[in-house]
Amino acid sequence: MKITCIGAGYIGSVTGTSLSVMGHHCTIIDIDAAKVDAINAGTSPIYEPGLQDLIQLQAGTFLFASTSYQSVYDADVVFIGVGTPSLEDGSADLSYIRAAAANIAKHLNPDRFTVIVNKSTVPVGTGEEVTSMIEHISGLRPGEHFAVASNPEFLREGHALEDVFFPDRIVVGASAGRAKERLKELYAPFMRRDLLVKAAQLLGIQEREIVPPVYFETDLRSAEMIKYASNAFLAVKISYINEVARFCEAVGANVMDVAQGMGLDSRIGNQFLQVSSGWSGSCFPKDTAELLNASQKHGQELSIVKAAIESNYQMHLYIANKVHDRIGSLQNRTIGILGLTFKPNTDDTRHTQAAVLIRKFSECGAVIRAHDPKGMTGFHQRNNDLPVIYCSTGEQVAEGADVLVLVTHWPEYKVLDWKWMHEAMRSPYILDTRNFLNPEEMRGLGFMYEGLGLGTDK
Ligand code: NAD
Repeated sequence: MKITCIGAGYIGSVTGTSLSVMGHHCTIIDIDAAKVDAINAGTSPIYEPGLQDLIQLQAGTFLFASTSYQSVYDADVVFIGVGTPSLEDGSADLSYIRAAAANIAKHLNPDRFTVIVNKSTVPVGTGEEVTSMIEHISGLRPGEHFAVASNPEFLREGHALEDVFFPDRIVVGASAGRAKERLKELYAPFMRRDLLVKAAQLLGIQEREIVPPVYFETDLRSAEMIKYASNAFLAVKISYINEVARFCEAVGANVMDVAQGMGLDSRIGNQFLQVSSGWSGSCFPKDTAELLNASQKHGQELSIVKAAIESNYQMHLYIANKVHDRIGSLQNRTIGILGLTFKPNTDDTRHTQAAVLIRKFSECGAVIRAHDPKGMTGFHQRNNDLPVIYCSTGEQVAEGADVLVLVTHWPEYKVLDWKWMHEAMRSPYILDTRNFLNPEEMRGLGFMYEGLGLGTDK
């Protein structure tokens, strides 16, 4: 099929590339010429493990990029994968969606039936709004010349390719039967074991069990809701375990064992029970805010989501207070931050825990030294008002530091030269907000090590 993906960001570039790997002819469109040039040159516009290799393999044959919407004219399916950030009141900013829809409308071919698919996370009702917009601008009739569908994306940054080729489920929402048929055809390669085995080989993940996903069809509004309801549920789950961690700390239980014991129950499951300084990143904060906002507007407030948002903010503060309790006044004290991205294996620095913590520490007069393997440039661009000394290695963060806060559990932080770091610190206190390092090892090196909710004997 001929596919166009609008947006060459974390979603669009992965979607376009993976569809091209499965044999579709794909053009990715972005207003950012640098991203377009990167793809056409066979390089990735974002950091996502494995993506660079796939783009290099596909660019110029099945994968193209452009700043022009021309490819919409020939497309069987047009994906919209532009950003939907938060407005001041928490609701989703749909201006990028509307701009993309307007451009699509101007380029539709009246002699084809084109399916336009919202892959961006959009509030319930957006699919209908996009349909009206396109009808109005193009003068073409929905159902006859085009149809709008919803196909929310559930990938995790850092595991994006694995998640796109081997998702648990593919959700498709549409009112038009023709749109559903088209998308079923589009996704047919993702349901074929033989092609999935090949994809696994390409990604170097031969060890995984190849199980085709559940293909779930529903109506447009329900598909839009599934995405928000899922993300908010995961956010609630994380907030829950973080509160349990704090309670464990108060009563001397070990949250690592508690989470493991809980996760053994298949009704609960062991995922999203990892302790942290709180959820953050480009999706959970904005999606919970939009869901809460929309539920309030409809007089059906999701009070559990509201509580999770508040609990999450308290979790960030809990970390800041812990540092304060341990070292006293932060005035002119040096705090080393390990990790600026919201999770490992991504360069995405939108709305990170680190930004909240660094702001808090800076307001109290602390000097901040920080490192991240992939996120330093992006973090600096987004938070250029924050006075941070960026260090080129993780070790350098320790120089003269009164405390080290491990915020993001990048695998390479396990193997830092911790012995050297211990010597380099002014006082060797580590706060490990991910319970990621080995407490015995750290204490053996002379660190005062603290995790979250590790009980009295750890
Ligand atoms: P992003 O900011 O990385 O990418 C969006 C891209 O769209 C940018 O490159 C931007 O230049 C481009 N763009 C904006 N307006 C455009 C226009 N009119 N025409 C062409 N290009 C345009 O955002 P993202 O992280 O890829 O997220 C996109 C959507 O997918 C959001 O709704 C998000 O909630 C959703 N989503 C994201 C993730 C994730 O992990 N990042 C996961 C699931 C869903």
